[in-house]
Amino acid sequence: MRRKRRVKIVATLGPASGNRETIEKLFRAGADVFRINMSHTNHARLAELVAMIRDTERAVGRPIGILADLQGPKLRLGSFAAGGYDLKAGESFTLDSDLAPGDATRVHLPHPEILSAVEPGHRLLVDDGKVRLRCVSKDGERAVHTVVEVAGRVSDRKGVSLPDTTIPIGAMTEKDRADLDAALKTGVDWIALSFVQRPEDLAEARKVTRNRVGLMAKIEKPQAIDRLAEIVELSDAVMVARGDLGVEMPVERVPGLQKQMTRACRRAGKPVVVATQMLESMISSPVPTRAEVSDVSIAVFEGADAIMLSAESAAGKYPVEAVAMMDSIAQEVEKDPTYRGIVAAQRAEPEATGADAISAAARQIGETLNLAAIVCFTMSGSTGLRIARERPFPPLIALSPDPDMARRLTLVWGLHSVISEDAHDVDDMVARATRIAFQEGFARPGQRIIISGGVPFGTPGSTNMLRIAFVGADPHGEF
Ligand code: PGA
Ligand code: MN
Repeated sequence: MRRKRRVKIVATLGPASGNRETIEKLFRAGADVFRINMSHTNHARLAELVAMIRDTERAVGRPIGILADLQGPKLRLGSFAAGGYDLKAGESFTLDSDLAPGDATRVHLPHPEILSAVEPGHRLLVDDGKVRLRCVSKDGERAVHTVVEVAGRVSDRKGVSLPDTTIPIGAMTEKDRADLDAALKTGVDWIALSFVQRPEDLAEARKVTRNRVGLMAKIEKPQAIDRLAEIVELSDAVMVARGDLGVEMPVERVPGLQKQMTRACRRAGKPVVVATQMLESMISSPVPTRAEVSDVSIAVFEGADAIMLSAESAAGKYPVEAVAMMDSIAQEVEKDPTYRGIVAAQRAEPEATGADAISAAARQIGETLNLAAIVCFTMSGSTGLRIARERPFPPLIALSPDPDMARRLTLVWGLHSVISEDAHDVDDMVARATRIAFQEGFARPGQRIIISGGVPFGTPGSTNMLRIAFVGADPHGEF
């Protein structure tokens, strides 16, 4: 089975879709990677979902990526005696370390280190920014006194965002560490870290994961925007997490930041996922708004690696329809006569490495000769990523001997990932690549492909060779 588009689709699983039958339907409709949100999933359920996805993988005969998204240091208010209170503008309100239930003047904030990090002038946004407080004074680690700037209701366990404060905790809480362990045990392919603030947050997670999974940094804090280049450098992928980003920063800045992030990631050759509210109205309606269709198309035109569905596929009434809609929007955009030029305009120059020189040459030859496919042998995944970075016009096939790597690469722009042994010699390389290009539906007998490989065979990081090859009359033939 091959997709008729280059951008990938990430679909979040939840009550509306977390069953074997719907997972397969979502895959067939176009989902390349499934996201499991650890904010709402316990370990037993995680294991069930992973098992159902792996079962689907066997049924459809294609590698499928799994992304476990850790909750991160999402701050929440304590609880109130009456469940909640309406705060009026100009009133005083205190967040403190006192465990007693809150009232109209104060509430518990269960993180003493946060209380000491907030400084006068900092904003505290409650419930996705619906209520805005500003710190006027503080009392060490014990209390932060604020004035209500935007009125509204505060209630039990509502989320709090601190856009002005660098919070003195890493991107992983105790819960995240336990969830990460469970996710590694089930064999997910990607881990997303929420509310990343600093490059050190990635380094800390990497100590635990080593290279068993890809690490994705969710960019949803202004502090992460300030250090974007370093964070991209230390991540394996990035998510433009527009939901929380639009709370922590003025919402009108999100489109520009999305462009900056997609460009930075394309330049670095790191997969970038555009997320949140892409087809929001499809949670309850079988058709999207025109503005949503346009929003999805923008991400596709930017050359993002993947576009994501959250509640649309996890909790909405039309999960399969939402994936199918994304798939058809992406197909149409990619067929548009303006698409190639727009995506190529943001292509980054190759870096001075053998892998990049080979990748740029593969694209150029593939486009000049209008070849049926570019096939790369990639063990570490790196050659696959560098060729995808070129955003070449011919379809891309990545052959990897490691099933985990084949799954991880399902997130990457244009890569049709196939598990295959590494080539033993040049004849085997040609025979294997042409046979797979044929079997996977990319090339017919008589068509040509271009193959990148590395001598000595079976050595990661050795890509040093390009070969143009005909698909023979009998591509099934033994070799
Ligand atoms: P979330 O992350 O859905 O886990 O909050 C994505 C976002 O904030 O956009
Ligand atoms: Mn978020």
